[in-house]
Amino acid sequence: MDLEAMRHSAAHVMAAAVVRLFENVQLDIGPVTKDGFYYDFDLPARISPEDFPRIEAEMGRIIKADYPFEKTQMSRAEAAEVLKGRKYKLERLADIPEGEPITFYKCGDFIDLCRGPHLARTDEIPAFKILSVAGSYYRGIETNPMLQRIYGIAAQSHKEIADYLARLEEARKRDHRKLGRELDLFSSHDEIGAGLILWHAKGALIRSIIEDYWRREHLKEGYELLYTPHLGRSLLWTNSGHLDFYRESMYAPMKIDDQEYFIKPMNCPFHIMVYKTNLRSYRELPLRWAELGTVYRYEKAGVLHGLLRVRGFTQDDAHIFCTAAQMEEEIRKTLRFAMKILRSFGFADISAYLSTKPAKAIGSDENWTAAINSLRNALQNEKINFAVEEGGGAFYGPKVDLKIHDVIGREWQMSTIQFDFNLPERFDISYIGEDGQPHRPYMVHRALLGSLERFFGILIEHYGGAFPFWLAPEQVRVLSITDKELEYAKKVAETLRGENFRVTVDASSGKIGAKIRNAQMKKIPYMLIVGAKEQTARSVSVRSRFEGDKGALPLAELIGKLEEESKV
Ligand SMILES: [Zn+2]
Ligand SMILES: [Zn+2]
Repeated sequence: MDLEAMRHSAAHVMAAAVVRLFENVQLDIGPVTKDGFYYDFDLPARISPEDFPRIEAEMGRIIKADYPFEKTQMSRAEAAEVLKGRKYKLERLADIPEGEPITFYKCGDFIDLCRGPHLARTDEIPAFKILSVAGSYYRGIETNPMLQRIYGIAAQSHKEIADYLARLEEARKRDHRKLGRELDLFSSHDEIGAGLILWHAKGALIRSIIEDYWRREHLKEGYELLYTPHLGRSLLWTNSGHLDFYRESMYAPMKIDDQEYFIKPMNCPFHIMVYKTNLRSYRELPLRWAELGTVYRYEKAGVLHGLLRVRGFTQDDAHIFCTAAQMEEEIRKTLRFAMKILRSFGFADISAYLSTKPAKAIGSDENWTAAINSLRNALQNEKINFAVEEGGGAFYGPKVDLKIHDVIGREWQMSTIQFDFNLPERFDISYIGEDGQPHRPYMVHRALLGSLERFFGILIEHYGGAFPFWLAPEQVRVLSITDKELEYAKKVAETLRGENFRVTVDASSGKIGAKIRNAQMKKIPYMLIVGAKEQTARSVSVRSRFEGDKGALPLAELIGKLEEESKV
């Protein structure tokens, strides 16, 4: 079955149902989505989820009536006549270039301007469900009227629909915005500005654990760490080309001492300026410079989403400068490093995409070929499955993207290893080769986690907020059964803190059952329950968030087990 034609046909059926059920409906368009379809409507009534059952019932009747989808071609004048009074459709009609056929599809009493294709009959739609309704600006432009977009899914069977809904429900439970609130990890506020994140104490603690680990691993891999400013003069951004090619993503300049300054959308030009502070010899290459660099980029308000799409974020950035002879090994090292880091955070299912030279590109063919070969060879040597996106590279160089699948099967773009033939030219950077002559180094941008904000969002959803032991902001909570053991509970916590574990004591006056429920809700890996018996025996009763009661352990033995579990 042609799924796209089926889903798009379902969009028509939904539009027909809405027109039957509501007054004064103006239609816009109804394209397919990954798993279904939507349709944009303008109507006086506000559609809500309470309306979905009757829209679905009407759709069911239209499907059952088994109308054929009848195609008719019209002249522009005839089409305009049919669409009289339908303002969005008339504008869409005007979009159709002169000379292209203008076609309509009719099913039952419903006729719609449409390119098709469609199923033959409405009865061929096997299963569908309306999912949600949301505001959507006409043509995606914020000054245009707000339409109501109804989303649905359509599939080959009711079982597929049920599976899809179950996955959706699972994703909802794991939504990082919801868990972020419940676990007190982060927030954003209108007063501060959209897409700007506050990291609360527990979220910030996780971030600092990630950053510490990241720095340690980078030093091990032979990187050096840089810090660079948040702003730079317009001259820098002119030299880098950002003001020509990237300005719409940058914030307006501010004036300081008659000079214009821009907040940085990227760290690269700063790293290049560090490179240029010295005459470089082939002997000091490769240079690997990493920075947790905070950048700001303009994103439309409509696309901002929790931590996943923000306006201010910290990239785990690095730039590698190397010679042609070193390139292959550098790429291999980088790829291996990326895999190691992703796996250490629990992402085992990794796939790669190699993007090659687009039609419009700068840099010599020779450089492109060498760079693409180094990426391809590295992927093959590391035995990573990859797909090639022919012509999918940026104009300035080829790249490899690593994507992970999370625990509920969603794909997320993570690491990028990106060659750049542009900036080294623009900034005219070079090194003195063995031959005593200046050469242009290869430059590679790479980010392993992407940005800390987005990565944290994905991490929250992957683990459903139950972070692995080494990342958990609160690793252990000690719960006393009565106040009589509170002193002992505090002593246990102190001992564990002395061993560098993150421990708290629940000193509330609640019953032990309530204390356990509370710790469970906060997804704390271990609860240590202490009563009179444990106090006398100098032990603790261990309760795991996943496995429940694990029995009593002497404190020393517990420390050994926790140390084992702390290893990344
Ligand atoms: Zn259509
Ligand atoms: Zn860069």
